Amino acid sequence: MTPFIINISNLSPGTHSYALEGSPAEINLDEQFTRLIRVNADLDRITRGFALRGTALTAAHLSCDRCLGEFDLDLQTTFTLLYSVATTGAEEEEKDDLATVIAPEANIIDFGEDVRQEILLAVPRKLLCKEECRGLCPVCGRNLNNEQCSCKRETVDPRWAPLARLSAQK
Ligand SMILES: [Zn+2]
Ligand SMILES: [Zn+2]
Repeated sequence: MTPFIINISNLSPGTHSYALEGSPAEINLDEQFTRLIRVNADLDRITRGFALRGTALTAAHLSCDRCLGEFDLDLQTTFTLLYSVATTGAEEEEKDDLATVIAPEANIIDFGEDVRQEILLAVPRKLLCKEECRGLCPVCGRNLNNEQCSCKRETVDPRWAPLARLSAQK
């Protein structure tokens, strides 16, 4: 079980709000996630199931793709999860592929794995310490955010900088 659990037994009609928190390690996120994960969630009863709308907040310690500097990034993600309660009748039920099926006798919904997935998806594909990061000089390797150098590099397309850096190291 994870800290992101909602008790669904004897739930009265209407919207139920929850504020939950847990450490990244408790949902198998590695140490690059540095802040306690806070989740605010609203649970609604829907026909034969539940809809859970949530927001998760945490932060990650990452390294910049361009200058290799480390930086902290706040992460926020919103998500909707649908659950349908399995029916025991022989009737063919309408299948909702988006919904997670839960057993009729289930007392809890544990959505820790969903929180984990949503947080991983919230990490940008391109990691930049700041949008205008100047990166490393492809010739001397200095961090151009912090210092200038006199290398000639006008013709180097920044997208090729990592390659140029590799060949400069040889
Ligand atoms: Zn950077
Ligand atoms: Zn340089």
